[in-house]
Amino acid sequence: MLRIGFGYDAHRLVPGRRLVLGGVMISHDRGLLGHSDADVLTHAIVDAVIGALARGDIGEHFPDTDPSFKDADSLLLLKTVMEWVRAEGLRVGNLDTTVVTQKPKLAPHISAMKDKLSPILGVDPRRINIKAKTSEGMGFCGREEGMEAFAVVSLVIDESST
Ligand code: MG
Repeated sequence: MLRIGFGYDAHRLVPGRRLVLGGVMISHDRGLLGHSDADVLTHAIVDAVIGALARGDIGEHFPDTDPSFKDADSLLLLKTVMEWVRAEGLRVGNLDTTVVTQKPKLAPHISAMKDKLSPILGVDPRRINIKAKTSEGMGFCGREEGMEAFAVVSLVIDESST
């Protein structure tokens, strides 16, 4: 048995906000705007996991009208949905993601992101892939008005759970 989930997210890029991607704070002159920490990559991953479980979407479970999610660490949302995965006797098989941004360069931060995500997802960092792409100057990512992220996750039966 294999379940596949897909997630997408986008946030505006504005001055005066910190930039957090995959739970890692990245030095940049702008950050992502949102009710939580606006970690666009983690939000896409959360939606992919929710999608694989066929339980709707992130906004339904973690509404941005809820004051408890104000400036929230999005890794906590990921921890919550991973509890649902385990409760169904499943585990993550692998995760593949793409972040679209013109700047900054994300390559130096990718291994730190994998190290943050790996223990939460309960999967070896070698089963996690994070790709950074520019959109070659086109669209809102190209104009540095925002960032978007895509994620695909597989969930498999956890043979170690009884
Ligand atoms: Mg979001």
